Amino acid sequence: MCDHQSIYIHIPFCIRKCAYCDFYSKTCLCLIPDYLKAFEKEMDLRQSPDTAIDTIYLGGGTPSLLDVEQVGQILQITRDRFRVSQNAEITLEINPGTVGSSYFSGLKGTGVNRLSIGVQSFNDDKLKFLNRIHNADEAVKTLDHAQGAGFENISLDLIYGVPGETRASWIRDLKKATERMPSHISAYMLTIEPGTPLFEQMKQGIIIPSDQETMSLLFVMTSRYLNRAGFEHYEISNFSKGRINRSRHNSRYWELTPYLGFGAAAHSYDGAVRFSNHRSIERYMTDLSSGKQPLEEQETLTLEQKMTEFIMLRLRTLEGLDMDEFQKRFRFPFQDRFGKILSRILAEDLGMMEAGRFALNLEGKTYLNNIVETLVAGIL
Ligand code: SF4
Repeated sequence: MCDHQSIYIHIPFCIRKCAYCDFYSKTCLCLIPDYLKAFEKEMDLRQSPDTAIDTIYLGGGTPSLLDVEQVGQILQITRDRFRVSQNAEITLEINPGTVGSSYFSGLKGTGVNRLSIGVQSFNDDKLKFLNRIHNADEAVKTLDHAQGAGFENISLDLIYGVPGETRASWIRDLKKATERMPSHISAYMLTIEPGTPLFEQMKQGIIIPSDQETMSLLFVMTSRYLNRAGFEHYEISNFSKGRINRSRHNSRYWELTPYLGFGAAAHSYDGAVRFSNHRSIERYMTDLSSGKQPLEEQETLTLEQKMTEFIMLRLRTLEGLDMDEFQKRFRFPFQDRFGKILSRILAEDLGMMEAGRFALNLEGKTYLNNIVETLVAGIL
């Protein structure tokens, strides 16, 4: 296990809500200065100068609503309270339509060295359907500006499976994305979550979600297309140009290593206990103004929960689940409890066992949820 930790900083502000989004964010941008003061107080309370940090991720919300000085301040506050490695991966999420070219040259001086750009699509109709604040042209310009400023480690976020999306239109998105030469692509299947405008439209019969078969087809196409374009499909929704360009930060979550989350709604995990901050910005700020840690929930993970997460997260990855590591963590061989299911998965040609690792193949990954459910039923 790695002795470095990761820090996630949540910036819960957006210009307006996207139609599919169930993340916590608010549109009252005037709260940003007070929010940053509260963030500094949280950092003061939880500082640990001996803890080595080698990834920092500013996510949201829309962190690119912060100006360059604010990003610089956040990183300085973090460096003053933790031991941030010289070569730490520092990612900032960017939304097209929020920044111009000078933003990126300014960012270079803050230490941000990786950008995750929420393009979602290069198709204006799809962007409108998703209620994104930008059009395809603005997304392309944002990418040009970022690359022009010298950022090389750039990830693009894309969404597929919007109602009525055809294979041809999704391939056009993938083609345009790869032409921009990013080092990483995250391609997410659209899920329609309760409480979102898309969910309401679905309930009223205004939209009909893509069926499972279409989604699986698009998933397989995505993997094959991006593989051919030189991307490694290293996690179910993530593709990188070689191992070196994998997201170090997100890999930590998939490896179940401890992480520290700061800001409203942020989660932390210390290897045994998981806790989360208040979702409400107001409660987050009120607690911190009276010197209290803004805790909403905390739970000590049971062995069963840890095992469930281990199986679920590892089967999402290219490398899959290491039998020795499983035994070391849970003190019994994986085969003892899951041998029968494992044999069935292998017999149905949905996965492989190589060098002591069990991984799902591409077809197996289309059944990931069912496979995980079956395995978890053996735990609970
Ligand atoms: S920009 Fe991101 S966080 Fe904000 S509403 Fe859209 S999807 Fe949600």
